[in-house]
Amino acid sequence: MNMPHPEPTHNDDPEGIYRDDRRLDHAEGASRPLRSQPEKQPRGAKARGNRPIDQAEAAARFMAAPRHAKMHDERLWDLRQKRDREMHGILEWEELRALASAIKEHTLTHLDEYLEQFEANARANGIHVHWARDAAEHNRIVHGILADHGAKSLIKSKSMLTEECRFRDYMASVGIEVIETDLGERIQQLDHEDPSHIVVPAVHKTRTDVAEVFAKTIGTDPGNSDVHYLAESEREANRPLILAADAGMTGGNFVVAETGGFVVCTNEGNADLSANVPKLHIASIGIEKIIPRLEHLAVFVRLLSRSALGSPITQYTSHFRGPRAGGEMHVVLVDNGRSERLGMAEFWTSLKCIRCGACMNTCPVYRRSGGLSYGATYSGPIGLIIDPTFNARKYSSLPFASTLNGSCTNVCPVKINIHEQIYAWRRELVKQHEVPFAKKAAMKAAGELLSRPAAYRAAVGAAEGALAHLPRFVVYNALNAWGKHRENPHPVEQTFHDWYQANRGGNDE
Ligand code: SF4
Repeated sequence: MNMPHPEPTHNDDPEGIYRDDRRLDHAEGASRPLRSQPEKQPRGAKARGNRPIDQAEAAARFMAAPRHAKMHDERLWDLRQKRDREMHGILEWEELRALASAIKEHTLTHLDEYLEQFEANARANGIHVHWARDAAEHNRIVHGILADHGAKSLIKSKSMLTEECRFRDYMASVGIEVIETDLGERIQQLDHEDPSHIVVPAVHKTRTDVAEVFAKTIGTDPGNSDVHYLAESEREANRPLILAADAGMTGGNFVVAETGGFVVCTNEGNADLSANVPKLHIASIGIEKIIPRLEHLAVFVRLLSRSALGSPITQYTSHFRGPRAGGEMHVVLVDNGRSERLGMAEFWTSLKCIRCGACMNTCPVYRRSGGLSYGATYSGPIGLIIDPTFNARKYSSLPFASTLNGSCTNVCPVKINIHEQIYAWRRELVKQHEVPFAKKAAMKAAGELLSRPAAYRAAVGAAEGALAHLPRFVVYNALNAWGKHRENPHPVEQTFHDWYQANRGGNDE
């Protein structure tokens, strides 16, 4: 199917959306025509210390900006469709997924051995290897390396790990300038916003949003939102900073124990600039990124870009095995909660993640609410299962931002049982008393109803009657958030239970 929004339109009102000749009043309907003026970019969730993030509130603000919400949904669904096309071009796709999953599970269950093997081989290659227990230690180690070299500016390529470590904030506090080299990440840096997606950091922004940011920060024409003009202007502004930088930083998509090297995949070649322009290269890499042998790399490289962007391979797959002549290379291996997660019986397989973003692109909640609504480093389905491992209270609302439809699990190239882990987190949060009283009470009432067939059937009958006769304002009013984005189902003439009784006469007690 090519259309992301398959609702039929009505000839009388091309902007309206109709079903069975009834105009739909939900968010994508035409009750609020799109405005011709540029729409203000909705901002992300408000973080208040350790208090739970209100994802639903931020998502509601995102959906209240229909141009952004529609553009976001369509862009990501387009990536999902491209991914499907690539997947269908590889007959052994499911075997590749199974193999990738098995390699990751094997590696994670022998993590200590492979990390030690990597360290020994990397040192033999002339790489300095450091170990960081947490974000603070990571930041201190990198600062120490930069201070030893008198470095005052650092160019870096996109890395979710450094977002986890709030690395740029730390560097600002010690007076070192950090310049992002990935275009999307640079846009987010200039706008003082976190990335909203792990692969396409500024996917929630329209061209006019980017034009506004660049006009304020690098002096472009605020009325010109041509993408070529914007990209070229940013390149012109950033290139001198890159050429003058004292040090470069990359992440690492895969670390190979057998060779002591690591691999960085990008589409802009910016990691190669970060690694090769200055003489000092620092790579910050999570310990779960390790794979045993070089031959395993092919499995992941075939899966990564197809799953992420629906392209057969990333434009640049750069291998680093040691410092360049006259240069210096450091690898900082970061734990930051990963060892603890490895010990969590229900959640350890989340460490298999290769950060492709496919689960985000397919998720109906993520596509409609925007990554910044999660108020966390990792958003979308993968965020729902990782974020609570960092702080169960702060991210306690996130596992509820899912329909549990399982699409995330189906597309995951390393076969993480994402939707099952989301469900497991809900149980865990109830156990830890991190679920609001109203939600707990509603779930208890639903449980009671569903466990009593007679009461359930009576409730279904009453609901069917209500659906047929309730005035619309009862559902669609300012007080009922449910009605803002949903259309009531039509009452059916016969429920499945009635049909079953009439045709099979079964006893379903
Ligand atoms: S959980 Fe799976 S689909 Fe989601 S980002 Fe990680 S590897 Fe990709």
